[in-house]
Amino acid sequence: MHLVETRDLTHTYRGNVHALEGVNFVAERKSRIAVIGPNGAGKSTLFKHFNGILKPASGEVLIRGEPITKENLREIRKFVGIVFQNSDDQIFSPTVEQDVAFGPTNLGLDEATVAHRVEEALHLLGVEELRHRVPHHLSGGEKKRVAIAGILAMEPQVLVLDEPTAGLDPQGVADLVAFVNRLPDEYGMTVIFSTHQVDLVAEVADYIYVMDHGRIVASGTVEEIFTRP
Ligand code: ADP
Ligand code: ADP
Repeated sequence: MHLVETRDLTHTYRGNVHALEGVNFVAERKSRIAVIGPNGAGKSTLFKHFNGILKPASGEVLIRGEPITKENLREIRKFVGIVFQNSDDQIFSPTVEQDVAFGPTNLGLDEATVAHRVEEALHLLGVEELRHRVPHHLSGGEKKRVAIAGILAMEPQVLVLDEPTAGLDPQGVADLVAFVNRLPDEYGMTVIFSTHQVDLVAEVADYIYVMDHGRIVASGTVEEIFTRP
């Protein structure tokens, strides 16, 4: 059984935009999957199907082998955490600490568990010193890290990062790479991310999907994708 899978997934936005056409995607447990491709290729649209934000026009989305339904939507959203490209939209609390606590609190966890998770997430993302700051006033890179911490505090099994390096400086990128690389072995997590920084992919990904015009046009290991004639 695959952790995340799509079968012949098609999505059409209003205005007859064929954003996804026949996408077959698989992510295994504890793997790091990169999705690359130009702007408009369909990467974000694909990601939004992984936790039921978008529904397939046709085809299937299977999480742990199960389709997403009204009944399991809450469970699925605990299981698959997504940090969007425009992560500012995901930050709205008065302080960083409260913001990171929002998700786990919403899951109905007790205060001590929430506090513990917040500490761990702040620490993993290296943003402990920002805890009392107003998220709105942070730099783009800081906001990104806080947004990731907030999703991480919900302890998803699958972490989906849409263009996580956008707006990060070289040190921020290096930190993010190190962070992502810890997740499978130390936390048993699967990471699915999109990026424009193709040079990063070799450092972070076990498996790569290349998208264009709503389709997967290539997939394979780093060696397979980058040593093809
Ligand atoms: P085949 O078509 O022979 O099944 P694939 O190209 O699908 O081969 O896969 C080649 C190798 O990559 C296999 O060992 C498979 O387990 C692994 N693999 C395929 N998809 C993924 C993925 N999404 N994540 C991690 N490993 C993968
Ligand atoms: P990527 O993440 O690879 O940049 P997207 O999934 O954002 O690609 O977009 C895929 C296609 O769907 C593009 O043609 C884009 O313009 C279109 N699209 C994305 N969101 C919407 C929307 N809400 N309504 C209509 N079209 C959209």
